[in-house]
Amino acid sequence: MADIRVTVWNENEHEKTIEAVKQIYPNGMHNAIREGLEKAGGFKVRCATQDMPEHGLTQEVLDDTDVLFWWGHCKHEEVADEIVDRVQKRVLEGMGLICLHSAHFSKIFRRMLGTTCSLKWREAGERERLWNIEPGHPITEGIGEYFELPHVEMYGERFDIPDPDKVIFISWYQGGEVFRSGVTFERGYGRIFYFSPGHETFPIFYDENIRKVLANAARWAAPRIIKEHVCPFVEPLENIKKS
Ligand code: ZN
Repeated sequence: MADIRVTVWNENEHEKTIEAVKQIYPNGMHNAIREGLEKAGGFKVRCATQDMPEHGLTQEVLDDTDVLFWWGHCKHEEVADEIVDRVQKRVLEGMGLICLHSAHFSKIFRRMLGTTCSLKWREAGERERLWNIEPGHPITEGIGEYFELPHVEMYGERFDIPDPDKVIFISWYQGGEVFRSGVTFERGYGRIFYFSPGHETFPIFYDENIRKVLANAARWAAPRIIKEHVCPFVEPLENIKKS
């Protein structure tokens, strides 16, 4: 089977401006995500960042992408609408989209879902326990009943999303909140997975369970078909008798 073509897109701003983030991700979060996928095998990975021309998401790049990962936080509004249009069209035609952590407020995620995607948050470095409530789903292959992250940013309900096709993970936090931390959607022919861990000041994209989930998700989200949506006039298959 051919390698799945992945593009890991990152805003890549905190890595340049916040010392703590630079220390954890000296080559950017996108390269940590890339490294995890490459170690898993079966992927051909490229990275793109917001500061590149056309945010690194030219039509050529998207045409050569099966699954797009998205991490953004403080510069969502600076993502050009025409690029969001382009990505949305490609998802509707079959490209997989995996939105991570603060990408819940990205233009592309809100565009695909149509709701505010707001949530509660708190940055206290507390523990998160992610419960795997779909142990038979491809995204949780090799994941136990639950796993924990020692220090995270809390994302809590209510998460203003449409009802997901599947809730894959539910998180519990030390502070008491819960969250639908792994959810899937289908839009057009495209598959979408939102996964909430990934705050920039914690080394979450080096975690083995997180890396397993991301590789599983990329395999699950890879397109079965890529097909343009058209609205054709059609002749009837048989003669229609008029009475
Ligand atoms: Zn965060």
